[in-house]
Amino acid sequence: MIKCIRCGKENDDKNEVCSNCGYSFKEQKVEEAYRKLLKEDPVVPDEEKSGLIDSPILTFIFGILSMILPIFVFSFLAWYNYKKPSKVKLEPFRNVGNIFAYIGAAISIFLLVYIVWGLIAPK
Ligand SMILES: [Zn+2]
Repeated sequence: MIKCIRCGKENDDKNEVCSNCGYSFKEQKVEEAYRKLLKEDPVVPDEEKSGLIDSPILTFIFGILSMILPIFVFSFLAWYNYKKPSKVKLEPFRNVGNIFAYIGAAISIFLLVYIVWGLIAPK
């Protein structure tokens, strides 16, 4: 028995078209093969959902934080190292921590601009 996907009527295997609505079973086979190819999003029950991945608001907030946080961290480190008297007496190495913090801040600002520009730049 073949069940017609258009009207739901059970038909004999020999039939080429549905006896009720005339739908072609040749077409139906193509349709079913096509539907198998299309992968639908899996339906995930609420209790199995991970809070971060399935919540667009949380994802947005964490995405923004992950871009802005490094700037604050490295800016703070630069400021903190600048204020703190260095224990290193050797002149060229005194500001190594400071220089690394500035480089980190510069890289994080560059990455932020690069990512935001990638999002808003016209194609
Ligand atoms: Zn039918």
